Amino acid sequence: MIEMHDVYKTYDNGVVALNGISVKINKGEFVYVVGPSGAGKTTLIKLMYRQERATKGQIVVNNMNVTSISDQKVPLLRRQLGVVYQDFKLLPKLTVYENIAFALEVTEAEPKVIRQRVIDVLKKVGLTKKAKHLPQELSGGEQQRVAIARAIVNKPAVIIADEPTGNLDPETSWGIMDLLEQINRDGTTIVMATHNKDIVNTMRRRVIAVDHGKIVRDEYGGDYGYEN
Ligand code: ADP
Ligand code: ADP
Repeated sequence: MIEMHDVYKTYDNGVVALNGISVKINKGEFVYVVGPSGAGKTTLIKLMYRQERATKGQIVVNNMNVTSISDQKVPLLRRQLGVVYQDFKLLPKLTVYENIAFALEVTEAEPKVIRQRVIDVLKKVGLTKKAKHLPQELSGGEQQRVAIARAIVNKPAVIIADEPTGNLDPETSWGIMDLLEQINRDGTTIVMATHNKDIVNTMRRRVIAVDHGKIVRDEYGGDYGYEN
């Protein structure tokens, strides 16, 4: 599903964010990426959806060669991935419904199909009643549910989440984790960068620990492994 071969990333200012990463993530896995601030977690994730380009090495996501595709093909890659951010990144002037539909309107889906798919994902994330609200009228947890609905509406093979619970209180975070677990059970691969020790230690999934741009641990059923 995701393969990285000897991947390096040096930013324009000379910071070496990734220093030789090789990893293989299979279909259906749920993977936590952990590590101290500045370790390279966000960079690792950004390379997967071509928000940043690798300096060296090869990355393949769902059979697309992320490192060699042209910029024109990036939207095609993005449709196979759903990305969820710490700060939700919803469009503030669009309703919940419109935020989700927007992700489908850039595809060639028919209006009828779009409507049904949006209705389906709103139900899945438990926000049917909030369809006409603006993001600012929702709680943080609800906004993150909308962001997850937007991420899954294209039925992507992979969900990539960068600190999705970073702005949420513990109880709300568990609700978000239940939802991500449910999406994973339906067959979607999930890669999630997190600082949430409780979640990693409770869920016991694959844990990839990054430090100074390298993978220092890769364990199935692993724990968080260090103090925040
Ligand atoms: P993490 O997500 O683990 O906190 P990041 O991937 O955000 O780590 O950052 C890894 C390193 O790369 C850090 O030293 C950070 O300051 C640096 N970095 C991240 N993004 C950029 C950027 N756009 N330009 C320059 N340096 C960056
Ligand atoms: P996160 O907390 O999710 O790792 P950051 O706060 O590190 O994100 O980064 C926020 C934004 O700033 C990102 O787009 C990242 O690429 C950029 N950034 C991070 N570190 C640097 C840096 N040292 N120089 C320039 N841009 C950076």
